[in-house]
Amino acid sequence: MKTASADLLCIAPHPDDAEIGLGATLRLLADRGRRVWACDLTRGELGSNGTPAERWAEAQEAAARLGLAGRLQLELPDGFINAHDPAQIAATTAVIRLVRPRWIVTAPAPVRHPDHLATPLLVKKAAFMARLTRVSPPRPAGRAWPAAWPEGDPARPWRCEAIFEVCPPGRTPSLLFEVTSAWTAKMEALACYRSQFEAAEGRRPTLINDAAFLAQVERVARHWGFRAGVELAEALRGDAAPLLGDLPPDRWT
Ligand SMILES: [Zn+2]
Repeated sequence: MKTASADLLCIAPHPDDAEIGLGATLRLLADRGRRVWACDLTRGELGSNGTPAERWAEAQEAAARLGLAGRLQLELPDGFINAHDPAQIAATTAVIRLVRPRWIVTAPAPVRHPDHLATPLLVKKAAFMARLTRVSPPRPAGRAWPAAWPEGDPARPWRCEAIFEVCPPGRTPSLLFEVTSAWTAKMEALACYRSQFEAAEGRRPTLINDAAFLAQVERVARHWGFRAGVELAEALRGDAAPLLGDLPPDRWT
């Protein structure tokens, strides 16, 4: 139970949630040489627009734009993420053990969807189970990009250092990442999700294919950036306190 295989694993309910919540942070860390992974818990089959196959193709394209080391997609039931379901806990535990990340970030914001409310608890339970030697989940079903699922044994315990979630507006963040340099890449990654964000003919109007939605995503980042004295930032919150070896940069406030 020693070496991490990844620096950060973002676990989110639907394809595109990772990009909406912290896409620029994922790209920033990838640019720093970090091994960044994403896992979509569901195929997004209940979405008003786009088929699971279209959404997986878009998710792969977005993963490449963000420079991710890998992206996984489980087949948990969209709309029914359940932190008390042993099968869902087992599948998420197996993902954590196969990816072996130092940090896990869940992307529950925006929190209007019940899957977004359930995901942080599911992930916390799975991260705890991942530590226990007597828990032996099977290899989960799902898709992987750019190649096959990570090799390794889902029965091998793993203890991650910290779990964070994307901080919703109005809550107090634990960490802010300055993401000004990665913002264009985040917007390009979001643009890969044509079925979700383009209000093309034949598509049902939704909250997220209204142009106001992406403007709101940017407004949130400008809000966090303003707090920190930079242009754009993304915010995380969690129980962990990072251990510093020096004072943070002087624009920390
Ligand atoms: Zn979602």
